[in-house]
Amino acid sequence: MLTLGELSPRMGTPVEKDSVVAASDRNPVFAPWLDLRAYKIQDPVERLRFLRQEMQALESEGVSPRGPRRSTGHWRWAVGAGVALIATLAAVRPAHVAAIAPQPAPLARTPLVSAPRTLSTLAVPEKVWRVESSGTLETYSNGLRVDLTFAEANKARNPYPVFPLEGGATPVRYQSAPAGIVYHTTESNLADFEETENRRLQWLGRNLLEVVHDEHAYHYVIDRFGRVFRVVEESDIANHAGHSVWADSSGIYVNLNDSFLAVAFEAQTGEANSVTAAQIEAARMLTEMLRSKYSIPAGNCVTHAQVSVSGVNNHIGVHFDWASQFPFAEVGLPDNYARPLPSLTAFGFEYDSAFVQATGGPWKGLGLAEAQVEREAAERGMSVARYRAILQHRYSDVLGVVTGAESEEGGS
Ligand SMILES: [Zn+2]
Repeated sequence: MLTLGELSPRMGTPVEKDSVVAASDRNPVFAPWLDLRAYKIQDPVERLRFLRQEMQALESEGVSPRGPRRSTGHWRWAVGAGVALIATLAAVRPAHVAAIAPQPAPLARTPLVSAPRTLSTLAVPEKVWRVESSGTLETYSNGLRVDLTFAEANKARNPYPVFPLEGGATPVRYQSAPAGIVYHTTESNLADFEETENRRLQWLGRNLLEVVHDEHAYHYVIDRFGRVFRVVEESDIANHAGHSVWADSSGIYVNLNDSFLAVAFEAQTGEANSVTAAQIEAARMLTEMLRSKYSIPAGNCVTHAQVSVSGVNNHIGVHFDWASQFPFAEVGLPDNYARPLPSLTAFGFEYDSAFVQATGGPWKGLGLAEAQVEREAAERGMSVARYRAILQHRYSDVLGVVTGAESEEGGS
């Protein structure tokens, strides 16, 4: 088996015998002093300029930043790769710092779930692109493979309203690109994940895909073996979220069928979590691809249980899928269970003990949202109940705008 250090930089062929160096010297890494000086420069462009100047100076002197030059080929590669590495780190630094900064301890996992992938969280690629498409299979630069056997068009995504955080029911803007991802479980029948169940596992997965296809239920399904199937085209809407609410720093999204993409795990939520390690790895790559393609913020990658609200009363959590144990860290995301729920803070929704039980927590975000509502009520000199009633009235107004737009779409 060849390792990275045993391959030549450009051709992928084994390195000549005379250029073999100690293993620790093969890695294209900067000398620590250069690294530290570079990171003291705040501006990324200035930092890159500094590194290039230093590298050119060193190269012209025939000195490797790690020490005496031992292999011309390796040295040139080390400079190029090192600059590229620092440039990449400079560019992704704000994103990955933001992603890991608030991250609390990982959630308790079932045995099938692999250990938290801190490295993958740090190494989220800046850009994931489609390498090739055969008509039935797409391959992406991060290793993602998407099976297109069940892919089909549905109703096109029309511009959807985004509401202001500050209040009111007048949209702050309309947009057409997906704003986020909602993760689901299919809650379908499952076989034991054993080799002896192979035929039944495949049969159940195929049946599920046919149902999801007929219902246009999700954009993507990840089966028990970690295979990713596109079922509804990303440009179209899937019938996945029903009454639902989420928000980011730019506005509030209501009824997320129009605005969020749906990724479903072939799995059942509950104590005996049935998600496989292969599914989680596939979800990580699919999430990377979708985030790269649509510039989706990490905070907008959430579970159905987090966004679901009732259409008949003021309670959240009509749908319980992924109410607990969503593997945010392994999928390369911060713990979004810790985010205050916009349904509570913007629209005065409440929850009951059954929902708290389903969360297995409760989530940190529930407590933060409650505290925010109490604080804002106090600032207005009114009771929490009165303030919630005002927020709930706002939801009715907003829902009127959304359903009005939806019925216009249906009639057009
Ligand atoms: Zn769901």
